[in-house]
Amino acid sequence: MNPDVHQRACQLLDALHVEGILPVDRQWLEAHLAECSTCQGRAHANERALQALRSNTISIAPELVSITQARVRLRARELRENQVRMRALWISCGLSWLVGTLTAPLLWQAIAWIGRQFDISQAIRLMAFGICWVAPATIVGAVMAWKHSHASDALNEHEAWER
Ligand SMILES: [Zn+2]
Repeated sequence: MNPDVHQRACQLLDALHVEGILPVDRQWLEAHLAECSTCQGRAHANERALQALRSNTISIAPELVSITQARVRLRARELRENQVRMRALWISCGLSWLVGTLTAPLLWQAIAWIGRQFDISQAIRLMAFGICWVAPATIVGAVMAWKHSHASDALNEHEAWER
C-alpha cells in the first residue's frame, strides 16, 4: 500500500479528536482502518490514551485558572486592538495616497512658482518635488518602524520580567 495513504490516515486520526474531520474523510478513514492493521492499532492506541486522560481528574489551582483566563482575555484584547489599528492604518494609507495624488498638480505648480521667483533650475525643482512627494510617507514609515521596535522592546522587557 502507498505510504502516503497511511500518512493521511495518521493525520486524520490526529485531527479526528481535536478539530474534527469532514464526513467524507471519516468514511475514507473507516474504510482504511477496516483493511489496515497498523493504522487500526494506532487508532486503538489513541482511544486508550484518551480514555486514560478522561479517567484522570486533574486538580488545578484556582489562581492558575484565573491567571490563565486573564492572560487569554488580555491577549484577545491585544489582537482586537491590533486589528483595529491595522484597519485604521490601511484607511489612512489609502487616504494619504488619494490626497497625494490629488494635490500633486498643486504641489508641482507651487514649486514651479517658487522656482520662477527665485530663478531655481529645473533639476532642483524636480528634486524638490520628489522630496516633497516622498517625505510624508518616509516620515510616517520611520515613525511606525520606531514605534514597532519600541513596542517589541517593551514586550520583550515585559516577558523577561514575567519569567
Ligand atoms: Zn494504514
